[in-house]
Amino acid sequence: MDLKKFIPYGKFEAPGKCYNCAGSGLVPCGRCGGCGRSNGDTCPDCGGRGTTLCGRCDGSGIIDD
Ligand SMILES: [Zn+2]
Ligand SMILES: [Zn+2]
Repeated sequence: MDLKKFIPYGKFEAPGKCYNCAGSGLVPCGRCGGCGRSNGDTCPDCGGRGTTLCGRCDGSGIIDD
């Protein structure tokens, strides 16, 4: 088996990957902490999803600096 075939770039981290969200584009909601509920109701910040778009990369998961 040739392992090089499975490591196309030879790097663990892709270049430009957002460090704030680890490239997912989403971060845990700061208001509800990821549970999607706030004061017994749907969290207004994330709409109940428990995650919000990363403010560092605007949800793209990539930073071009
Ligand atoms: Zn929330
Ligand atoms: Zn990000």
